[in-house]
Parts: sequence; C-alpha cells; structure tokens
Amino acid sequence: MSKEINAQVVVLGAGPGGYSAAFRAADLGLDTVLVERYSTLGGVCLNVGCIPSKALLHLAKHIEDVKHMDAEGVEFGEPKIDLDKIRKHKEKVVGQLTGGLGQMSKMRKVKVVTGNGEFASDKQLKVKDDDGNETVVNFEHAIIATGSQSIKLPFVPHDDERVWDSTAALELRFIPDRMLVLGGGIIGLEMGCVYSALGSKIDVVEMTEQLIPPADKDIIKPFTKSMKSKFDNIMLNTKAAKVEAKKDGIHVTFEGDNAPDKPVKYDAVLVAVGRAPNGKKIAADKAGVKVTDRGFIEVDKQMRTNVKNIFAIGDLIGQPMLAHKAVHEGHVAAEVISGKKHYFDPKVIPSIAYTDPEVAWAGLTEKEAKEQGIEYDTAVFPWSASGRAIAQGATDGMTKLMFDKNNRIIGGAVVGSNGGELMGEICLAIEMGCDAEDIALTVHAHPTLHESVGLAAEVFEGSITDLP
Ligand code: FAD
Repeated sequence: MSKEINAQVVVLGAGPGGYSAAFRAADLGLDTVLVERYSTLGGVCLNVGCIPSKALLHLAKHIEDVKHMDAEGVEFGEPKIDLDKIRKHKEKVVGQLTGGLGQMSKMRKVKVVTGNGEFASDKQLKVKDDDGNETVVNFEHAIIATGSQSIKLPFVPHDDERVWDSTAALELRFIPDRMLVLGGGIIGLEMGCVYSALGSKIDVVEMTEQLIPPADKDIIKPFTKSMKSKFDNIMLNTKAAKVEAKKDGIHVTFEGDNAPDKPVKYDAVLVAVGRAPNGKKIAADKAGVKVTDRGFIEVDKQMRTNVKNIFAIGDLIGQPMLAHKAVHEGHVAAEVISGKKHYFDPKVIPSIAYTDPEVAWAGLTEKEAKEQGIEYDTAVFPWSASGRAIAQGATDGMTKLMFDKNNRIIGGAVVGSNGGELMGEICLAIEMGCDAEDIALTVHAHPTLHESVGLAAEVFEGSITDLP
C-alpha cells in the first residue's frame, strides 16, 4: 500500500534532536511530519541511552552508598538483586517518557509516520514500514536527525550474545561474574559502575593514557582513584588486540603498557569505543546533501546543509554527541525554517559522566586553552574542605574554574558525587561572561556542594576567609 502526504516540515528521526525540532516547528505554526523507524519516540537517549542508563546508575549509587555507611553507624545487609524487577523498573521509566512524547505529538498535531525514511529527492522522502507499506512525504523543508550508532570493531565477534554494545548492556541479560569494558570513555564507565554495583568484577581497557580522554588530567586523577576502588583492573595505554568467543567465555588478548601476559577470560565484554553517525543510510545523495566519508553531515550555524531547504542536527552533525546539544540545534533549525534569524552559537556545551563520582566539564579545558594559545589561570576548591561534602562522605571531589587574563570565566570542571549538578551555574556564568568577582560575590547557600563554585572563585580572588 502506498499513500502520499504533504508537509511544510518533515523531520527524519525522533530522538531528542528530532522531536524537539518537530515540536518547535509545530508550535511555530508549521505543518509538521515526524518520521521514526521504531514504534516509540525518543531515539537513543530515551530508549537506550541517557534515561535507562541513569535509572540504573541511580540504583547503583544507592547500592554503593549503603556499603559505606557502617562507618557512620548504620549497617545494611547484602543487597538482594532481582534483575527482572530492575529491568521492569527501567522499562517503566523509559515508557513514561516515550509515552509522554506520543501525547505531546498528538497535542501539537505533529503527524508521526512510523517506518524507515530515505530521500527520493530534495522535496520528497519515502518511508517504508515493516509490512512494506510506503508513505511518500512531499516536503518544503526537511530536518535530518537520524543520530548515531555504536562503533563495531572488526576483530570483535559482535554476534556473540556475551559481546555487548551499550544497548545490550542496558538489556540486563545477566550479571557477568567477570566483565571487560573495552573503552574508558563515559558510556563504558557508566555501565561499568552499574554492573560493578550489581556484583560483577570489572576490568577496563583504554588505549590512551587516561580515562575519559577529553577531560583534564587533574580532574581525572581523583576520579581514576575512585574507579580503582570499584573496578578490578584499569589498563591504560593498553588495547584489546584479539577477542575470541569460546565456549567457556570471551578470551581477550591485550597489548600495551599494562597488558596481562596471557589472554584473560570474561563472561561478557562491553564494547564502548564511540559512536558513528547514521548519515549514509538515508540516500542523502538523492537530495543532493553531502555526507562525509565518516557519515557526518556538515551544516552552518543555522543548521542548514549544502541544500537550502534541508537541515541537519544532533549526533549526525558531529561532536559532542549529546542530547542537550541535539535539542538546542533542533530548536534553531525549526526557528530558521519558520523565518526567524536564529543561530546555534553556544559558548558552552556541558559534558557529564554520571559515574560515581561524577566527572563534568564545560567551556574550555586546559588542554584546549593551551592548544588555542589562550592565557589562563585556574582556581581549585577541594571538597575535603567543603562542609557538605564532609557531612555526606564525598570528600574525594574538587571544583575547578578557569579564568582568562581579564579574570573572565572561560571553563569549569568538577569531579565528585553529583558533581554534574554544579555545571548549571558554571555554564550560566560562562554564557553571561561573568568574572571571578561576580561569582565570588554571589551568595551561595550553605552547606551545599555548589558553594564550592563560589569558593573556587574566592580562591582565585585571594579573598577566601573561612572555609565552610
Ligand atoms: P538519536 O537519539 O540517535 O535519534 C535518532 C533517531 O532517528 C532514532 O530514533 C532512530 O531510530 C531514527 N532513525 C535513524 N535513521 C532513520 C531512518 N532512516 N528513518 C527513520 N528513523 C531513523 N547524552 C547526554 O546528553 N546525556 C547522557 O546522559 C547520555 N547518555 C547516554 C548513554 C548511552 C548508553 C548512549 C548510547 C548515549 C548517551 N547519550 C547521552 C547520547 C545521546 O543519547 C545522544 O547524543 C542523543 O540521543 C542524540 O540525539 P539525536 O536526536 O541526534 O539522535
């Protein structure tokens, strides 16, 4: 069966970028169609990314926190893990949010078409559902928001059900006794924290010299110390060279500075070595849209591709691959289409690893400032001097601010329990062009962790008097 519909705007892909773009376009009075290959909206983030991982990390943090409370006079027994119940809880959280998106689409009269979309021209998209039914969407404008997928490694037997990507890890198939996290980036470490709390022994292999490579060394140092207390072995400057699926387990041979002499046997291996854009799967060439060799689509600051009426947003257009970036880009694309003169030009896009402790940074890192030849100075407030951190046993954290030669804040980073929550203030300060005095003179509530942002600015000003 084939049918034809018309739209002022068609959005391809219903992740955070796509649904945000579609909703904003509809709110601006544009007749909007949202195309998604899966039956639920929300993309990677809501279904198999940000949200389910955070539901599990929330659980993991509670399990870990209570382990250490005996020193404070309260002892808990061993946790009883009911994997089916945890899975149901995670699915309920996801369902609540994806269901909400369905409702919001209806309320806004965004027409959702389910199926795989491919361009037929720069004015037409063809959508095929699983039963072979085709919907042809004739559009004036298109926004491509098809996101990304986990990178697969050629020497890894990805077909084996004990070899996982992040989606498989979130399925909670079983709790492996011994698990390897291949790749020491945010996604791998988050899932490592989850499985460690559930009882797995975790090894991590990372080919660079530090975990979470984009973050600054001084932030990652205390973080790595915390991870070492959770995980069995963190192998830096090391790579997995051979991965073999055998009856008794997945055998991994390592090479590099910290490689074990012999292959190590794991019950599961999580491959988390990054994500690749889905630009090559949508017949973009039929619309004349250029796609790079790696599958990215290039856009200008208004999110416009090389084809005037076609826009692209989200993971598909490049790093950082983060939901909040996709959302803002989606808004810009919809607003430009509606005739507004709007640009995507943020000073900061925060990055957060929701591990325990969390690692977060925004604006420039020291590495970037050095590369760009920007003069800067830093101020650090250690959480060992924070009343709140001491009260809640979270002293292994720190808050760092970076200032330029005019004392204007240009970057900030935090490591510590729930440290990501502090990025709101740091991001706003950078966007507003605050200097150290603005931050230091802002009265922060006591005792809070965000007080450490004000105190770091006071350290910079040299005006610090009493530590809380
Ligand atoms: P996606 O969310 O990838 O959505 C793209 C959509 O397009 C998908 O629904 C896909 O099915 C659909 N699609 C693709 N091709 C077609 C086609 N041809 N036809 C129809 N539909 C199509 N980011 C954060 O900011 N915070 C986090 O805490 C965080 N945690 C994460 C945890 C994990 C485990 C993972 C994997 C990712 C995480 N991310 C996080 C990243 C975040 O999920 C992505 O940056 C975000 O989802 C990107 O949004 P998007 O709209 O660009 O694309």
